[in-house]
Amino acid sequence: MIPCANPLSQYLSHKAEIDSAVMQVLLSNKYILGPEVAAFENEFAAYIGAGHGIGVANGTDALEIAMRALEIGPGDEVITVAHTAVATVAAIEATGATPVLVDVDPFTYTLNAQQLPQMLTTRTKAVIAVHIYGQAADLDEIGAFCSNYGLALIEDVSQAHGATWNGRRLGSFGTISCFSCYPTKNLGAIGDGGIVCTSDKPLANKVRMLREYGWKQRYISELQGRNSRLDEIQAAILRMKLRHLDASNAKRRAIAARYDALIDNPLIERPAIRAQCDSVYHLYVVRSQQRDALMRHLNEHDIHPGIHYPVPVHLQNAYLRRVRTAPSMAVTEALSAQVLSLPMFPELSGDEVETVARAVLAFRG
Ligand SMILES: *Cc1c(COP(=O)(O)O)cnc(C)c1O
Repeated sequence: MIPCANPLSQYLSHKAEIDSAVMQVLLSNKYILGPEVAAFENEFAAYIGAGHGIGVANGTDALEIAMRALEIGPGDEVITVAHTAVATVAAIEATGATPVLVDVDPFTYTLNAQQLPQMLTTRTKAVIAVHIYGQAADLDEIGAFCSNYGLALIEDVSQAHGATWNGRRLGSFGTISCFSCYPTKNLGAIGDGGIVCTSDKPLANKVRMLREYGWKQRYISELQGRNSRLDEIQAAILRMKLRHLDASNAKRRAIAARYDALIDNPLIERPAIRAQCDSVYHLYVVRSQQRDALMRHLNEHDIHPGIHYPVPVHLQNAYLRRVRTAPSMAVTEALSAQVLSLPMFPELSGDEVETVARAVLAFRG
C-alpha cells in the first residue's frame, strides 16, 4: 500500500529525538506559551527571514487572526483563489469580511493576477496569495497590485514551508504571512499548530494579543481577542522538525525529479514550476482528462493518490451563491475534475517512487 502522505513515517524516522523533546515538556510543568513556543517562534521567523513569529492553534486561525490584526472585518472584501483549502476562505468569513474569489493560472494553478483589477472595489482590503502544492503564487504581479492600490498582501504559506521566490523564502514578502503545521504539511506537528510571521512590529504585537484574549498584560484585555494558543508539546516537536526541514524538502524535490523524469505519458501533464520559484513539493499534482480512470488504475496497483481539491470552494454547498467570483472560473472548475496528487512524502523509498512512476507510465486510459 502506497499512501499519498504518511506522517507516521516521519515520526518514526525521528522517533528518539521527538520522544525526548516531548518528555522534556511533560516534566517541565510549563505546558502553554512557555520556552518551547518562544524558541520555536524565534527560530521559525529567523528561518523564514521575517522579524517576528507568533504561534497559534492552527493555520485557519493564523489567517483569521492576521486579518483581524489588519482590522479587516464586516463590510470589507478580501480577494483570493477558489482553488485552495476551504480554510483560506473560511478564515475570511470568520472575520466577517466577504471573500472574493478569482481563477488560477492554467499552468501553475496559482492566482491569476490578470483578474485582480476587475475584482477591485472601494471595499477591497487585502489579497491572500496562496502558495499551493509547494510552489509560489506570482509575488511580483500580486505584490505590485497590492502596493499600487494600498492593499495588504497576506501570504498563505501552509503548503510551502521553505520554498523560495528569487532566492528568498516565502512568507517574507507579504505584509503578514500564515502557516499551518497540520501533520501532513512540510513542517507538520503531531496534532494541530500554526504560526504567523511579519516584520511589522506593531502588527506582530497585535497578533500576539489577539491570540490570547487581547492581553498585553495578564488578565487585562485591551483588544477583542480569543484563545488560539500553540502548546508547548507541539512547539517542541516543531522545533525539532524545523532542524530537518531543509533535508526533508530536499527529499521531496528528489522524488519530484524522479517523477518528472519517469512519467512521460501523453495522457498526463506533470507540474509546471515558475522559474523564480524553488518549490518544496508539498504535493506532486498531475493533471489528466481521464483522472478518475487514472485513480482507479493506481488503486488497482495499491497506490492511493489524493485529490486537492475535488470541489472548488465556490461550488461547495456551504458557499454556493454566497461568495463573489470572477466572471470566469474555468481553470479552477476544470482542475477539480482533472488533478491527482501522487504519493509524496520525504520517507517514500526509491522503490516506491519507481512503482508509482511505472504504474502511471503504464496508464492507457
Ligand atoms: C492546511 C491549509 C490551511 C489550514 O490549516 P489548518 O491548520 O488545517 O487550519 C490553510 N490554507 C492552506 C492553503 C492549507 O493547505
